[in-house]
Amino acid sequence: MKLPVKTIKEAARETEVFDEADVIVVGGGPGGHSAAVAAARNGAKTVLVERYGHLGGLATGGLVIMLLLMSDGTNEPQIAGLCQEWIDRLDAVGGVLYPSKEELGSSDKDVIERWKNVLFVVVGGKIRLTATVDPEWLKGILNDMVEEAGVKLYLHSWGTEAIVEDGVVKGVIFESKSGRKAILGKVIIDGTGDGDIMASAGVEFDDTMSPKLRAAHQALVFRFGNIDFNKYCAYKDANPQKHRELMEELSKLTEGIRTLPIASSRNDICWFNNRIGGLSATNIEHLTMVEVMMRRVMRIVQVFYQKHIPGFENCYILDSASQIGTRGGRRMMGEYVYTEDDMHNGIIHDDTIAVCPFTTPPSYHKRGYIPYRSLLPKDVDGLLVACRAFSSDIGANDAFNWIPHCIAFGEAAGTAAAIAVKLGIQPREVDYRALQDLLLSQGAILPDVR
Ligand SMILES: Cc1cc2nc3c(=O)[nH]c(=O)nc-3n(C[C@H](O)[C@H](O)[C@H](O)COP(=O)(O)OP(=O)(O)OC[C@H]3O[C@@H](n4cnc5c(N)ncnc54)[C@H](O)[C@@H]3O)c2cc1C
Repeated sequence: MKLPVKTIKEAARETEVFDEADVIVVGGGPGGHSAAVAAARNGAKTVLVERYGHLGGLATGGLVIMLLLMSDGTNEPQIAGLCQEWIDRLDAVGGVLYPSKEELGSSDKDVIERWKNVLFVVVGGKIRLTATVDPEWLKGILNDMVEEAGVKLYLHSWGTEAIVEDGVVKGVIFESKSGRKAILGKVIIDGTGDGDIMASAGVEFDDTMSPKLRAAHQALVFRFGNIDFNKYCAYKDANPQKHRELMEELSKLTEGIRTLPIASSRNDICWFNNRIGGLSATNIEHLTMVEVMMRRVMRIVQVFYQKHIPGFENCYILDSASQIGTRGGRRMMGEYVYTEDDMHNGIIHDDTIAVCPFTTPPSYHKRGYIPYRSLLPKDVDGLLVACRAFSSDIGANDAFNWIPHCIAFGEAAGTAAAIAVKLGIQPREVDYRALQDLLLSQGAILPDVR
């Protein structure tokens, strides 16, 4: 029998209105950062609230340093806009590794040979646009973009609650070292990844998970330094059976948790992806368990690799992620729920705001067309969702919540918010063709759509 939940009553209180703006974005990850930059560049007075001390979310603090598959094997990308700007700005300082425009779509044997050690560049025998970034340079560059756009940034501020009046979101409450405060705005954008703000606004969402899916797995990414990644790849290629046996042995030591070293933008550093399944991204006991367990696992991995794996003889733990790796979580059930059927049938929606290449077979030659309505809640106004919590079923969310996708959602949400503010209308009233025009004029691309 389930015991009743014990509760306390909190005292009612007055809360200071700390700031007011046209657009308030909560969460400064790929989705939220892009939303804030796009809103401000389009003339909206914009505030960005982020719980940690840096921007970039999983792409920086989560050490998920690979912007995955912006192209589908053809010789043109399907995602550009702010995502391409991240790459261009990083490229100018040597902080990113990615194939050249001339190499995209190539199946030339020398080109394939050059890229074969960098995960997700060679897919289906063709070169794709996947970019591996330097997370520390990226943190700085994301700050620059926010500053240059004139966004007012509040770090170390945890958005806790939407302020809702008569079905319209009018602002957010946040908690910080300065206390509990409110910010009021005309359009609020949820970029928290987990949809914290939309959930608190009473918007319908689904957070059920299928344990088999990628999205149901959590991780704590870590990096090793002082390695020779090319030497490791050569060893693995020459000794596949021995390498498999060693990985089996390691997996017994790590309670079955498998870890995968992945190339970084430097040969002497790699990042380790990992997966712990069947957990909830919003359950603090699960989150705590993953943090503690993975800090045990990473030490075992370091000792094992140092002893057994060529290329790792002098390795050390360079760092571990400050943001836990949550691949999925709440998904809004919004104005349109983008489904696996949409995805597999390649349905092109008139109001498409992002075209997403697939990452995995058997459909990796196809594209997903995400509609603007998937960023809009059903019954609540004044709100857009611009992160992996976009309105989608679990299968579609699993396939289309990668970093470049979320950047594209954010760019569209921020641009739409600025249009809404300028015209004094609700985000759901924004003319999707005007939104697409503006996105295209900013450097975004919508292949097959416009
Ligand atoms: C282990 C792992 C490996 C992955 N591998 C890849 C990969 O190789 N390539 C790829 O493209 N994608 C990969 N992904 C997926 C990708 O990282 C995420 O789906 C993507 O980062 C989602 O972006 P987002 O903006 O929605 O959320 P996030 O990146 O999670 O950003 C959310 C931001 O909001 C902030 N925030 C959250 N809640 C609040 C709050 N209440 N108040 C204030 N701020 C808040 C967070 O601190 C963070 O800055 C991986 C994910 C994981 C976990």
